[in-house]
Amino acid sequence: MSVEPERIRALDRATKQRLWDRMISSMQTVSSYVVLLDDGGLETLELTAAQAEGFECLTCKAQCSNSAGSFVPVGRIPSVGSVFQCIACSVGAR
Ligand SMILES: [Zn+2]
Repeated sequence: MSVEPERIRALDRATKQRLWDRMISSMQTVSSYVVLLDDGGLETLELTAAQAEGFECLTCKAQCSNSAGSFVPVGRIPSVGSVFQCIACSVGAR
């Protein structure tokens, strides 16, 4: 019982990251989705499953979980979920 808490956290983070990476890499199938944008637009986009389900930025595919709070919802795909953009893309887009 002499494992330092620091080490447990680090291990845990690495494990989580590995599981996350595996999930993301299993979601790279690209399909066409009709996206209802929050500004009222309707666009058909070629997205990975990860993008469609809100795990990656809609534009640059940055992963949404890595820095929670720096992603903004930009629309949704009916029966799939909400889609997000990172702050950089949401500011730079349009
Ligand atoms: Zn982005």
